Amino acid sequence: MRISAGARRLLIRSGVAKLLYRSEAVKRFYRRWIRDRLGDQPNNYNIQLSSICNALCVFCTYPQLKESGTPQLHISDESFDRAIELIRKQPRPIVCFTPTTGEVLVNSRWAERVQTALDLPFVREVYFYSNAISLNRKNIDRLLALKNREKLRVNFSTGGTDRELYHAMYGVDRFDKVARNINALFEVLAERGESVPVGVDVKLRPGDRVSNDLLENTYNKAGYRYAQFIQSNELSDLGGVVAGEFTIRYKLQARDNRPCHGLGNFRFAANGDIWLCGCAFSEPPGSTELRVGHAKGWADLAAAEEHQRTLADAWRDHNDVPEPCKHCPIYQPEPASAARERRSAPLPPSDRPVRLPVLNH
Ligand code: SF4
Ligand code: SF4
Repeated sequence: MRISAGARRLLIRSGVAKLLYRSEAVKRFYRRWIRDRLGDQPNNYNIQLSSICNALCVFCTYPQLKESGTPQLHISDESFDRAIELIRKQPRPIVCFTPTTGEVLVNSRWAERVQTALDLPFVREVYFYSNAISLNRKNIDRLLALKNREKLRVNFSTGGTDRELYHAMYGVDRFDKVARNINALFEVLAERGESVPVGVDVKLRPGDRVSNDLLENTYNKAGYRYAQFIQSNELSDLGGVVAGEFTIRYKLQARDNRPCHGLGNFRFAANGDIWLCGCAFSEPPGSTELRVGHAKGWADLAAAEEHQRTLADAWRDHNDVPEPCKHCPIYQPEPASAARERRSAPLPPSDRPVRLPVLNH
């Protein structure tokens, strides 16, 4: 449903918009929207602009991947162009720039790369998460200069509302900088009279909550009306890989003979490899089970697709679940319709509602 410009102005002036954006129901909807990116949606493409991050979050696999010698690099022109070429050949409507690990804004060419995806006519949504450490004035200007910005969804993640908690969660002492950067962005958006929603995902200790006023006073002093704060106090321990005081263990959803929807997503890694999925758990330290190729040309994506089908069929027909997927709390069963299209055998009764984790990014 589209809201006309006049109706939108009325909503803004009357203050109703502000109330709506702060309501718990809208926040729940917003979080579901983020989760839907991983669920019953068309499959997407993930492009990792950089495998480098400027944080060391204790709830993320990045510190372990870094420690284990996983290459730390920005995507090359050649790998990026090839990924775009493959995407053009087999269009999908969603492109995500925050797969697995790595920080988008540390790649100085991030805006140019994001613009390339925004310009693809068949793409209707481009999104990324950033930790806002590098959200300096130059990057704010780059963000606001993007064309086709109506297709873009940006979320920032941060830890708590004080320096100590941030440092304990993000492994770096950057709270003041992050708060300053997010405030600066909202100030510019408010000054320009923008109405683009911007999410701020505030990570907290399990079960903790803070007041909205505290969040606004910390990150949105300008009172930008479309700041959307989410309190994430249920971070997953990713099946034990990042277990600690800030994470919880989720009850796993049954996954027998039902491949995950995420297995149909492709990730173009910064080093040119092609992986399946792209969630935080798809590349556990030491595992390459979901790596399905290296992008050199069209034949490579076709081969990766073949590999993807083989893995999905083995899961569906022999319950041969890839190791990362056995313990992954983000698992989303492929839609029943998709499964029926592929085979006629009845599906197992595994659709008990299970709480999904919040995003560890
Ligand atoms: S279950 Fe596997 S494919 Fe699904 S989200 Fe987890 S790692 Fe990705
Ligand atoms: S969660 Fe995101 S910001 Fe934190 S270390 Fe991992 S990739 Fe970096």
